[in-house]
Amino acid sequence: MSWQPKRDFLGYGANPPDPKWPNGARIAVNFVMNYEEGSEPSVQDGEGYTETGLTEGTTSSMGLKGRDLAGESMFEYGSRAGFWRLMRAFQERGLPMTVFACALAFERNAESAAAVKASGFDICSHGWRWIKHFDLTEAEERDHIQKAVKSLTSTVGAPAGWYCRYGPSVNTRRLVVEHGGFTYDSDYYGDDLPFWQTVEGKPQLVVPYSLANNDGKYANTMSHSDQWFNLMKDAFDVLYREGAQQPKMMSIGMHMRILGHPGRTAGLWRLLDYLQSQKGVWIARRVDIAKHWAATHPYAGKGLNE
Ligand SMILES: [Zn+2]
Repeated sequence: MSWQPKRDFLGYGANPPDPKWPNGARIAVNFVMNYEEGSEPSVQDGEGYTETGLTEGTTSSMGLKGRDLAGESMFEYGSRAGFWRLMRAFQERGLPMTVFACALAFERNAESAAAVKASGFDICSHGWRWIKHFDLTEAEERDHIQKAVKSLTSTVGAPAGWYCRYGPSVNTRRLVVEHGGFTYDSDYYGDDLPFWQTVEGKPQLVVPYSLANNDGKYANTMSHSDQWFNLMKDAFDVLYREGAQQPKMMSIGMHMRILGHPGRTAGLWRLLDYLQSQKGVWIARRVDIAKHWAATHPYAGKGLNE
């Protein structure tokens, strides 16, 4: 049988490795902007419905058939307005971020693509489309991975990593390794540090992502920017304190159609100002964290707990 991910309830246990972050940093923080708008399921692209995930939309509860024009426009807010607001928040402060990039979305917005390409932010492929990879056949998924890389390479630059919408299929990691050219993948939520796996004889670096440190919280449980700011600040403060003994990394996920709304960007500004006021914080691109890990903790013939 082909390789599939195994359960690992142990991870690093009580004594995780020292990541030796640059300049003795106590924590590495990586902001991720998910660029999805334009690649989501839609009537026009053949799915037969309008995606309203992570918006104020409520199509399903209203029984709307066909195009949901309200839902479409809530997505369009992300690429038309939210994108530029989030870009300014980082660029005005001289801070880096990582773009989880859905390929078709950038094909449909050349101006955004050019801005990302010029920014120096790193690219992690978020799929050819913002769809559920676990619903694809193996052949379809292989095709989507190839299409995504080809497209992103021409619009924003070659992706250094891979991350599916929500979750991978049992085949994804193997197909990502088979494709080659990726420094890491982020299809995992179970740790605060990167780790190695062996996939059909080849090393694969996994850099875990987070749906807890994520503005997706606004879509179900939160309404006020102070709530989100405080959740992110608390997570940072705990990891920062632990970082005196055991440094970790923190991923913070952002969506243009959520955090890009002004009342929520306010909480992001507060968070960025707070992080910039602390000493010993490495705010880094995801590819830099991955490359640092590969250099300081190289693959040594087997992965974690293999
Ligand atoms: Zn996403």
